[in-house]
Amino acid sequence: MIESMSYPLFKYFDRDFLQPFLTEIEKSPNLQLHWSEPTLAVVKTETGFRIETADQGYESDLVLTTVNVHPRLPEAFAVFELHSDQTIWTDAYLETSATDIFAVGDLIQIPNAITKDTVYMPLVNNAVRSGIAAARNLASKTTPFRGGLRTVGTQLFEWYLASTGLTESDRFFFESPIVCHAFTAASSLFDPTQVHGKVMIEQASGRIVGAQLLSKANILEKINLLAFAIEQQATMEELTQKDFFFHPRFTNVLDQTFIWSGSDADET
Ligand SMILES: Cc1cc2nc3c(=O)[nH]c(=O)nc-3n(C[C@H](O)[C@H](O)[C@H](O)COP(=O)(O)OP(=O)(O)OC[C@H]3O[C@@H](n4cnc5c(N)ncnc54)[C@H](O)[C@@H]3O)c2cc1C
Repeated sequence: MIESMSYPLFKYFDRDFLQPFLTEIEKSPNLQLHWSEPTLAVVKTETGFRIETADQGYESDLVLTTVNVHPRLPEAFAVFELHSDQTIWTDAYLETSATDIFAVGDLIQIPNAITKDTVYMPLVNNAVRSGIAAARNLASKTTPFRGGLRTVGTQLFEWYLASTGLTESDRFFFESPIVCHAFTAASSLFDPTQVHGKVMIEQASGRIVGAQLLSKANILEKINLLAFAIEQQATMEELTQKDFFFHPRFTNVLDQTFIWSGSDADET
């Protein structure tokens, strides 16, 4: 695996937070990991491919490129005003610069629900939600698109990873200071599998602006609660005092501890 940044998944996770996952995959005998190595060229050879990076070259039977995507627009789309990354400009109601033509999904930038900048977030969640908003606006422009938080969840090797909103590294794009709280909790009363969490909080208001979760237990669904809390501009205090059911068999410890009160919270 060849990655130009100093660790993988940098858009969604801070490096310190990913360390348990990174330490484990770095020990894997089946993976060769090359961080901080931009790929410069992929050259076809008689037996396969040669991947040339800034540092050296690697021989490989197969190459899978997973670099960032961007829209590849046909010439007919030249009628639209575009952003510099070739996405189609839209107003808040997803109407393009051409009257009565709307654009959605991977063709557009969408508002970051926290920073209010528009950014390219090519995800199914954004494609579906922007499609719904645009459909509502076809007859009359009543529904501004609320944008997204870059909410993602996945499983890699034995780990479940999920992220929403700002990372700690994103704090440079946010106008006011952010504090971060890290915590660990057991996954449930019957399952001691550790859940690692990190929550980014706007210092002045206490509202949550980002969260990351990592565990070998399936905690993916929990990121949706945090994403909704961020959308609703909920504070940590509000999340701590929420009213969730308790049943020893079904309750998730993470729900009860949410998140930092009484745990080993760490302020950075
Ligand atoms: C391998 C892969 C895995 C992904 N996994 C995830 C994931 O797990 N979660 C997630 O949130 N997102 C994921 N994504 C991103 C997600 O697929 C996209 O964000 C989403 O499909 C965008 O929806 P869309 O309708 O805007 O575009 P698309 O789904 O790309 O649909 C556009 C359609 O338009 C057609 N088309 C293109 N040009 C023309 C033309 N000139 N005329 C007519 N038709 C045309 C295309 O053939 C295509 O069918 C993944 C993407 C890839 C490539």
